[in-house]
Amino acid sequence: MTDSPRIHLGALLRSSSEDAHAEGSLDHLQYEQGGETQILRFAGPAPFEVDINALGSNEMYLQGTFEPVLIMECARCLRDVEVPLELNLGTLMRYDPSVQTPYLEEADSGEELLVFGGPELDLSAFLAETTLLNAPLSVMHDEACKGLCQVCGHDLNEGPCEHMAQVPVEEIDDDLGIPEGSLHARQNPFAALADLKLPEE
Ligand SMILES: [Zn+2]
Ligand SMILES: [Zn+2]
Repeated sequence: MTDSPRIHLGALLRSSSEDAHAEGSLDHLQYEQGGETQILRFAGPAPFEVDINALGSNEMYLQGTFEPVLIMECARCLRDVEVPLELNLGTLMRYDPSVQTPYLEEADSGEELLVFGGPELDLSAFLAETTLLNAPLSVMHDEACKGLCQVCGHDLNEGPCEHMAQVPVEEIDDDLGIPEGSLHARQNPFAALADLKLPEE
Protein backbone atom coordinates (compact mmCIF):
# COMPACT_ATOMS: atom_id res chain seq x y z
CA MET A 1 0.00 0.00 0.00
CA THR A 2 1.28 3.44 -0.91
CA ASP A 3 0.89 6.37 1.45
CA SER A 4 0.58 8.92 -1.28
CA PRO A 5 0.91 8.45 -5.03
CA ARG A 6 4.27 9.89 -6.04
CA ILE A 7 6.14 9.80 -9.29
CA HIS A 8 9.79 10.68 -9.83
CA LEU A 9 10.33 12.94 -12.82
CA GLY A 10 14.00 13.75 -12.36
CA ALA A 11 15.23 11.62 -15.27
CA LEU A 12 12.44 12.82 -17.51
CA LEU A 13 13.19 16.46 -16.68
CA ARG A 14 16.87 15.91 -17.52
CA SER A 15 16.25 14.08 -20.77
CA SER A 16 13.10 14.22 -22.86
CA SER A 17 13.82 10.71 -24.16
CA GLU A 18 12.98 9.30 -20.72
CA ASP A 19 9.55 8.18 -19.60
CA ALA A 20 8.37 8.02 -16.03
CA HIS A 21 6.17 5.29 -14.60
CA ALA A 22 4.52 4.76 -11.25
CA GLU A 23 1.99 2.28 -9.94
CA GLY A 24 0.64 1.18 -6.62
CA SER A 25 -2.58 1.13 -4.68
CA LEU A 26 -4.20 3.53 -2.26
CA ASP A 27 -6.65 2.86 0.54
CA HIS A 28 -7.49 6.56 0.77
CA LEU A 29 -6.48 9.87 -0.71
CA GLN A 30 -5.53 12.84 1.40
CA TYR A 31 -5.34 16.24 -0.23
CA GLU A 32 -5.57 19.94 0.57
CA GLN A 33 -8.51 22.04 -0.50
CA GLY A 34 -9.04 25.61 0.60
CA GLY A 35 -6.43 25.17 3.33
CA GLU A 36 -8.19 22.16 4.79
CA THR A 37 -7.20 18.52 4.64
CA GLN A 38 -9.79 16.42 2.87
CA ILE A 39 -9.94 12.64 2.71
CA LEU A 40 -11.49 10.40 0.10
CA ARG A 41 -12.17 6.94 1.52
CA PHE A 42 -11.95 3.79 -0.58
CA ALA A 43 -13.57 0.44 0.18
CA GLY A 44 -10.37 -1.45 -0.66
CA PRO A 45 -6.94 -0.93 -2.17
CA ALA A 46 -7.46 1.25 -5.24
CA PRO A 47 -4.92 0.44 -7.97
CA PHE A 48 -3.36 3.24 -10.00
CA GLU A 49 -0.93 3.20 -12.88
CA VAL A 50 0.58 6.30 -14.43
CA ASP A 51 2.94 6.92 -17.34
CA ILE A 52 4.37 10.30 -18.19
CA ASN A 53 5.98 11.12 -21.52
CA ALA A 54 7.86 14.27 -22.43
CA LEU A 55 6.35 16.38 -25.21
CA GLY A 56 9.17 18.90 -25.55
CA SER A 57 9.90 22.26 -23.90
CA ASN A 58 8.44 21.97 -20.41
CA GLU A 59 5.39 19.97 -21.34
CA MET A 60 4.51 16.36 -20.68
CA TYR A 61 1.56 14.07 -21.10
CA LEU A 62 0.26 11.90 -18.28
CA GLN A 63 -1.84 8.86 -18.95
CA GLY A 64 -2.95 5.95 -16.87
CA THR A 65 -5.75 4.36 -14.93
CA PHE A 66 -7.17 4.61 -11.44
CA GLU A 67 -9.85 2.25 -10.13
CA PRO A 68 -11.09 3.22 -6.69
CA VAL A 69 -14.25 2.01 -5.00
CA LEU A 70 -15.17 5.36 -3.52
CA ILE A 71 -17.12 5.45 -0.25
CA MET A 72 -19.83 8.10 -0.34
CA GLU A 73 -22.70 8.82 2.04
CA CYS A 74 -26.31 8.04 1.18
CA ALA A 75 -27.90 11.45 0.55
CA ARG A 76 -30.87 10.55 2.75
CA CYS A 77 -29.67 8.30 5.57
CA LEU A 78 -25.90 8.98 5.50
CA ARG A 79 -24.89 5.33 5.57
CA ASP A 80 -21.84 4.33 3.50
CA VAL A 81 -22.40 3.60 -0.17
CA GLU A 82 -19.68 1.99 -2.31
CA VAL A 83 -19.26 3.62 -5.72
CA PRO A 84 -16.90 1.72 -8.05
CA LEU A 85 -15.12 3.94 -10.57
CA GLU A 86 -12.88 3.08 -13.52
CA LEU A 87 -11.02 6.22 -14.42
CA ASN A 88 -8.91 6.75 -17.51
CA LEU A 89 -6.35 9.41 -16.76
CA GLY A 90 -5.09 11.73 -19.45
CA THR A 91 -3.81 15.22 -18.93
CA LEU A 92 -1.23 17.65 -20.17
CA MET A 93 1.43 18.68 -17.67
CA ARG A 94 3.72 21.67 -17.49
CA TYR A 95 6.89 21.95 -15.45
CA ASP A 96 7.34 25.32 -13.76
CA PRO A 97 10.15 25.38 -11.16
CA SER A 98 8.51 28.26 -9.28
CA VAL A 99 5.42 26.18 -8.38
CA GLN A 100 5.37 24.83 -4.82
CA THR A 101 2.12 22.85 -4.81
CA PRO A 102 0.92 21.15 -7.98
CA TYR A 103 -2.36 22.52 -9.29
CA LEU A 104 -4.72 22.10 -12.21
CA GLU A 105 -5.44 24.98 -14.56
CA GLU A 106 -7.43 25.27 -17.74
CA ALA A 107 -5.23 25.36 -20.83
CA ASP A 108 -6.01 27.62 -23.82
CA SER A 109 -7.52 24.57 -25.52
CA GLY A 110 -9.97 24.20 -22.64
CA GLU A 111 -8.22 21.05 -21.48
CA GLU A 112 -6.95 20.68 -17.96
CA LEU A 113 -3.28 21.21 -17.39
CA LEU A 114 -1.41 19.90 -14.37
CA VAL A 115 1.27 22.41 -13.37
CA PHE A 116 4.04 21.23 -11.05
CA GLY A 117 7.39 22.47 -9.82
CA GLY A 118 9.54 19.61 -8.62
CA PRO A 119 11.03 16.33 -9.76
CA GLU A 120 9.02 14.49 -7.11
CA LEU A 121 5.35 14.88 -8.02
CA ASP A 122 2.60 14.02 -5.54
CA LEU A 123 -0.44 13.01 -7.57
CA SER A 124 -2.86 13.07 -4.61
CA ALA A 125 -4.67 16.28 -5.53
CA PHE A 126 -4.84 15.31 -9.21
CA LEU A 127 -6.24 11.84 -8.49
CA ALA A 128 -8.68 13.24 -5.92
CA GLU A 129 -9.98 15.89 -8.31
CA THR A 130 -10.30 13.37 -11.14
CA THR A 131 -12.17 11.02 -8.81
CA LEU A 132 -14.57 13.73 -7.64
CA LEU A 133 -15.21 14.96 -11.20
CA ASN A 134 -16.24 11.45 -12.22
CA ALA A 135 -18.20 10.51 -9.12
CA PRO A 136 -21.96 11.08 -8.98
CA LEU A 137 -22.94 14.26 -7.12
CA SER A 138 -25.07 12.29 -4.73
CA VAL A 139 -25.96 8.66 -4.21
CA MET A 140 -28.60 6.72 -2.32
CA HIS A 141 -27.90 3.35 -0.70
CA ASP A 142 -31.25 2.22 -2.12
CA GLU A 143 -33.74 4.02 -4.36
CA ALA A 144 -36.38 3.41 -1.71
CA CYS A 145 -34.27 4.83 1.13
CA LYS A 146 -36.63 6.29 3.74
CA GLY A 147 -34.03 8.66 5.19
CA LEU A 148 -33.77 9.92 8.74
CA CYS A 149 -36.51 11.29 11.00
CA GLN A 150 -36.11 15.07 10.99
CA VAL A 151 -37.03 15.25 14.66
CA CYS A 152 -34.88 12.58 16.30
CA GLY A 153 -32.51 11.42 13.55
CA HIS A 154 -33.75 7.82 13.72
CA ASP A 155 -32.93 5.78 10.59
CA LEU A 156 -36.42 5.15 9.18
CA ASN A 157 -35.11 2.21 7.10
CA GLU A 158 -34.97 0.33 10.39
CA GLY A 159 -38.62 1.03 11.13
CA PRO A 160 -40.74 4.03 12.09
CA CYS A 161 -40.14 6.15 15.16
CA GLU A 162 -42.85 7.75 17.29
CA HIS A 163 -42.84 10.90 15.13
CA MET A 164 -43.69 9.05 11.94
CA ALA A 165 -46.82 7.56 13.53
CA GLN A 166 -48.32 11.05 13.52
CA VAL A 167 -47.61 12.00 9.92
CA PRO A 168 -50.39 10.29 7.91
CA VAL A 169 -53.29 12.70 8.49
CA GLU A 170 -55.99 10.18 7.61
CA GLU A 171 -54.87 7.96 10.47
CA ILE A 172 -55.25 10.60 13.15
CA ASP A 173 -57.60 9.56 15.92
CA ASP A 174 -59.43 12.57 17.37
CA ASP A 175 -59.60 10.98 20.79
CA LEU A 176 -55.82 11.14 21.11
CA GLY A 177 -55.79 14.89 20.39
CA ILE A 178 -52.97 14.43 17.89
CA PRO A 179 -53.10 17.80 16.05
CA GLU A 180 -52.20 19.58 19.28
CA GLY A 181 -49.76 16.85 20.22
CA SER A 182 -47.90 16.85 16.92
CA LEU A 183 -47.22 20.58 17.20
CA HIS A 184 -45.93 19.91 20.65
CA ALA A 185 -43.88 16.99 19.44
CA ARG A 186 -42.03 19.13 16.97
CA GLN A 187 -40.79 21.35 19.78
CA ASN A 188 -39.96 18.54 22.16
CA PRO A 189 -39.57 15.04 20.77
CA PHE A 190 -40.04 13.48 24.20
CA ALA A 191 -43.37 15.18 24.86
CA ALA A 192 -44.86 12.92 22.21
CA LEU A 193 -43.90 9.88 24.25
CA ALA A 194 -45.83 11.18 27.24
CA ASP A 195 -48.94 11.71 25.08
CA LEU A 196 -48.80 8.23 23.65
CA LYS A 197 -50.17 6.38 26.66
CA LEU A 198 -52.32 3.61 25.28
CA PRO A 199 -55.66 2.91 26.96
CA GLU A 200 -55.21 0.03 29.34
CA GLU A 201 -58.30 -2.10 28.99
ZN1 LIG B 1 -30.05 5.60 2.59
ZN1 LIG C 1 -38.29 10.49 15.15
